[in-house]
Amino acid sequence: MELVENILTQNPCYQAGKKITVRGLMLHSVGCPQPSAEVFVRKWNNPEAARACVHAFIDGNTGKIYQTLPWEHRAWHGGGSSNNTHIGVEMCEPACIKYTGGASFTCSDRDAAMAVVKRTYDAAVELFAFLCQKFGLDPLADGVIVSHKEGHDRGIASGHGDPDHLWNGLKSGYTMDGFRKDVNAAMGQPAPKPQLSPATSQSIPAAVQSIPAAAQPAPAAGSMAISDRGVELIAGYEGCKLEAYLCPAGVWTIGYGHTAGVKQGDRLPSQEAARALLKEDLKKYGDYVNACVRKGLISFPLTQNQFDALTSFCYNCGNGNLQKLVSGRDAATVAEKLLLYNKGGGKVLTGLVRRREEERALFLS
Ligand SMILES: [Zn+2]
Repeated sequence: MELVENILTQNPCYQAGKKITVRGLMLHSVGCPQPSAEVFVRKWNNPEAARACVHAFIDGNTGKIYQTLPWEHRAWHGGGSSNNTHIGVEMCEPACIKYTGGASFTCSDRDAAMAVVKRTYDAAVELFAFLCQKFGLDPLADGVIVSHKEGHDRGIASGHGDPDHLWNGLKSGYTMDGFRKDVNAAMGQPAPKPQLSPATSQSIPAAVQSIPAAAQPAPAAGSMAISDRGVELIAGYEGCKLEAYLCPAGVWTIGYGHTAGVKQGDRLPSQEAARALLKEDLKKYGDYVNACVRKGLISFPLTQNQFDALTSFCYNCGNGNLQKLVSGRDAATVAEKLLLYNKGGGKVLTGLVRRREEERALFLS
């Protein structure tokens, strides 16, 4: 990630000097055929500039990111209450498109346009992953990462269609759902270079430092441990907060529902640290699965994927349901019956349906 700091100190929005607490990120595209971020930077660094200002522009020719406001500065990008909560980032658009009214456009060179769109998309993924880490945001949580269009649909932004209109108009295959997933995946990667600012001060629960880094050798029957892939699956369905918070039951909680030894003011340095804690907490649930093997409740030899899927199930549904699910059943039956555990409060919940299907797919792979 190449980031150039170019704060628009002459723009009236900068001069208004309001701060926000960052709760989310809004993705825009500029809505005109101009790939150069510098053109916008020059034009907007002006007391006469239109009453608009964003936090960053992504250049369409280089993928370079120009930061134009401090991240916690209130920008004028969404045209609604999203200005009070969301960072706004503009992707520049290809020169070879021509707007024909509203969000409609024609394109004279689709390959060239796609190269620009891909470049800005990839840079936006890196930037959003960086910002989610910096502000402790969960990229998959509802309303955290939105496009300008989605902001409008949610009633927090003005009536624009960007950048969805550009991606759809070019049949690029890019979607906001895919974008959020890519940001989430990018957060599992090592920090992008260059590191802008070191993570702020932390007091990390001791467990974080004691995680063995390397994978374990193949264990004996009844002594398996969850793999990183299994941790990923579970993490995808759980909320994550890097700062300690009081859960509804009044217990200090951090990361993925971790509570042991957590106190007010604790902070995890990264999403990776949160995953490491989750992996620690999952040992208990993995051991319930191991116990089922040792007691003979599971009679078929478990693959790593089956072990991971059952650990996810146990973490979500409890040891009692795990024992019911596996007792005296062959693998195919377990995979089939797994899908039945999809209700909460007597109703089928789409989140649980998806989770059970993903666990089943992993179990069978
Ligand atoms: Zn916009």
